[in-house]
Amino acid sequence: MRLRPDINIKSIYDISVFNLKACEIEAIFFDLDSTVMRSKSGIFEKETLEFLNLLKNHFKIAIISNNKNTEYIKKAQSQVNFPIMGNAKKPDIKVLLQVCKDFNVNPFNCAFVGDRPLTDILCAKRAGMLSILVDSISAADEKKIVRFVRYLERLSIKK
Ligand SMILES: [Mg+2]
Repeated sequence: MRLRPDINIKSIYDISVFNLKACEIEAIFFDLDSTVMRSKSGIFEKETLEFLNLLKNHFKIAIISNNKNTEYIKKAQSQVNFPIMGNAKKPDIKVLLQVCKDFNVNPFNCAFVGDRPLTDILCAKRAGMLSILVDSISAADEKKIVRFVRYLERLSIKK
């Protein structure tokens, strides 16, 4: 099934440097909202920043977001020293592949981590990257309808 992730984990904190190194991963791309930041919060939590900076010691890192709000992306960018690309139009992979070029990495040696099968996982698969699905970090505060849509989306990846 095209939308089934290669790896399904609870959160970014379950990412294993050792395992990804063993898969010859050189760069990790992350979705922004609900993957590394609570949706619409605009602020990274301290432990998330620490973890991303730890990963940055081992991999090239970038965030690829569909968020079109340039002020929001700028605010997020001001908190980290790796690229954050907004308005990426995932599952389109143009922006993602451009960052691969900038990083001088082959997409086959990259992983993409996100909370949504229809954008993040599809994007990873189209680009030939290892796809990693995480649970939404803001799931508990989300509106019921949003959670229901996510539930339906996840049903589509079950066998
Ligand atoms: Mg997301």
